[in-house]
Amino acid sequence: MNGRAIGRVVALATAVAAPLGLGLAVAPGAEAATVTTLYYSSSGAPDYLAQIDRGAANWNAAVTDVRLVKRNTGATIVFHEVHSGGSYTNTDGHGHGQIYLDTSQVAEGFDPTRIAAHELGHNLGLPDHYSGPCSELMSGHGPGTSCTNAKPSAAEAAKVQSLWANGIAAARPEQTYTAAL
Ligand SMILES: [Zn+2]
Repeated sequence: MNGRAIGRVVALATAVAAPLGLGLAVAPGAEAATVTTLYYSSSGAPDYLAQIDRGAANWNAAVTDVRLVKRNTGATIVFHEVHSGGSYTNTDGHGHGQIYLDTSQVAEGFDPTRIAAHELGHNLGLPDHYSGPCSELMSGHGPGTSCTNAKPSAAEAAKVQSLWANGIAAARPEQTYTAAL
């Protein structure tokens, strides 16, 4: 009885060891997956500091290949505040850009967290999709002021995840543009 029991335990251990061994063989590659950190500064948009941080946090919660971290020196994504003309960004869609948040657009009723997250989406490589639903970040102003969603859809997150899967050198935007909200 004891011998059989021990035999079974050993067999089980062997059975478990094989997949673990395979797992270990795969793990180094998985761990080597590049995580790109992009720094953003928000000091140029003092009325929206919390909203910008929330917009960045929403992206960080949705993707793992690229992370947005606030740092006012050396940032490659720089927020500014303007008072007319609409919110927009000038970006290479590749982690470098100037983002302009329009206070008058917020006064019209557009949600500033959604605007910040949307413009960050451009800097992460996504184009506008104004005809999309509120559940999409890149539908921007399309769904109107009642839309306050500031989180990327699963498809948007998956797109950014794939664009940044191999790091900043390999990341390519869908397009390069000046894009409004
Ligand atoms: Zn846009």
